[in-house]
Amino acid sequence: MTLIIEEIRSILFKYLDKYFINRDLESTVKMFSPDISGYGTGGDEIASNYDEFKRLYSRDISEAPGTVYYNINRLYIKSPASNIGIASCELNIRTKIVNQELKLNNLRLTLILVKTKGVWLIEHMHLSFPTHIHEDNESYPIKELEERNVVLQRLVEEKTSHLNDALRQINKLAATDKLTGLYNRLKIDECIENELKRTERYNNKLSVIIIDIDYFKKINDSYGHLAGDQVLVEFAQVISQRIRQTDFIGRWGGEEFIVVCPETSLDNASIVAEDIRCGIEAYIFITVGRITVSIGVTSYQLNDTRDMLLSRVDAALYEAKRNGRNQVVVN
Ligand code: GH3
Ligand code: MG
Ligand code: MG
Repeated sequence: MTLIIEEIRSILFKYLDKYFINRDLESTVKMFSPDISGYGTGGDEIASNYDEFKRLYSRDISEAPGTVYYNINRLYIKSPASNIGIASCELNIRTKIVNQELKLNNLRLTLILVKTKGVWLIEHMHLSFPTHIHEDNESYPIKELEERNVVLQRLVEEKTSHLNDALRQINKLAATDKLTGLYNRLKIDECIENELKRTERYNNKLSVIIIDIDYFKKINDSYGHLAGDQVLVEFAQVISQRIRQTDFIGRWGGEEFIVVCPETSLDNASIVAEDIRCGIEAYIFITVGRITVSIGVTSYQLNDTRDMLLSRVDAALYEAKRNGRNQVVVN
């Protein structure tokens, strides 16, 4: 083998190592002439100037950054003049994209090199992805298509899972009261509607408890709005601990809270309400100390609408306030 052929061969292997094994954009690009006359692979990957060719290499390496292992099936090297080299080879490659093994067989790579001032630079590169020669006994690239399909499917799954996470987050925010972390009024309205439907269909029981802090305005006036907010946060924690997992609890308005108790009779809901009232009465809030609550309780009656249920529980709460507060009234 002549010296020139040997030089061209070593440049080809250097290129394959930088590009496929190291996936090193900078040192791959350095092997090319700034006057590159062409670069092409499959699809739209064609470049006729240096910037475009760098963009394509950078896209290629960023999309499949892992090592691409190669083995050469056929190699052809020629030097028609002492400053010109042609290196052409057929190779199989394999790599992983999104954790999926990807194999491509019988790729054809051609490099045209020119030696200027004693340095060999690549003037032209072409890499073709054949679609006819594939696995044994395959006329069409079925296996390869299947593998590509798996990669695509994974990408779609990944994107879908990110979207679903975002959607869950948005739904949670849309249903949550920012201060207390409880359900907001919108979500509680939806819970009541759903539970009313279930109650009617299965002939179940359903109770609703509404809780309003007594003289809350005074707390704000005496300790400030921030202390008032802190009371609401602690309050939400105390009552959350006193209800069942199957109950829904939400912030109904400023200092008014609602508990929806599916499959709960009026008697049992009254016990829960009294437990909440006692729990609050006994609890010592960080800044303001002791507070009390007034509570209204009601249960589903035949043909009740949401409004009927809510206006009955409101009337019970009003009664509790009117009777002197710090008490439970059942309606
Ligand atoms: P009552 O015993 O009759 O329920 O008297 P009250 O003072 O608790 O009731 P009122 O409806 O007169 O006042 C409720 C107060 O709650 C007025 C409002 O400024 C305050 N409030 C509403 N939302 C918030 C909030 O998010 N944070 C704070 N700190 N205060 C709030
Ligand atoms: Mg109040
Ligand atoms: Mg109120």
